[in-house]
Amino acid sequence: MNDTLAALLDDLVVANRILAGLGIVDGFGHISVRHPDHPERFFLSRSLAPELVTRDDIMELDLGGSPVTPDTRKPYLERFIHGEIYRKRPDVISVVHSHAPSVVPFSNSSVRLRPICHMGSFLPNGASVFEIRERFGATDMLITNPAQGEALAEVLASDTVVLMRGHGFCSVGQTIPVAVFRAVYTQNNAELQSRTLALGGDVTYLSEDEATLSEATNRAVIDRPWGLWKKRFAPTA
Ligand code: MN
Repeated sequence: MNDTLAALLDDLVVANRILAGLGIVDGFGHISVRHPDHPERFFLSRSLAPELVTRDDIMELDLGGSPVTPDTRKPYLERFIHGEIYRKRPDVISVVHSHAPSVVPFSNSSVRLRPICHMGSFLPNGASVFEIRERFGATDMLITNPAQGEALAEVLASDTVVLMRGHGFCSVGQTIPVAVFRAVYTQNNAELQSRTLALGGDVTYLSEDEATLSEATNRAVIDRPWGLWKKRFAPTA
């Protein structure tokens, strides 16, 4: 394994710890990264709570969700989320899937998750909701096969975040830190939006222009929160 790949996998491990530490994932949820040299492959932990993930738990999967080399470890049931988003979105390098409680209500309500403050500027048009029932009828609500993953990726389209009705959401990014940032601030935006709606007055969201300008600013300082989170949550052993 070359140094670049080793550093990327270390970041993937840290990202698991960060998402757990910040309450974006708990026993469930996951983050993956696309293979830098083989775009038709990605790295994802074996089925394990993200807070416990180490480098030895990382599996290399193809976009169909099968291990690239013989591997008897149990993968996540919902690995098809990752493979099908990577298939549909060549620009995406990292995918987060989360059941964060502040976000789920926006997957059940007709109230659209929209950018309430500058930290949510990656949601210029708000987040669409994937309704699994539309094409798949009654299910266990999870993405457990490639067809369901593909349908989810279609609703994500060219956006940064997609909500999943009665389930959770996914965020994507061109790097691990960006995908993590978007997951963290999807939860933050949902929390703030719920509080704003609870006040009961008219609500003003960021305009598309404001979101675009703010997004450029935020992307330029991504190293600051990433450095902080890495320091706080990196495995010590
Ligand atoms: Mn899930």
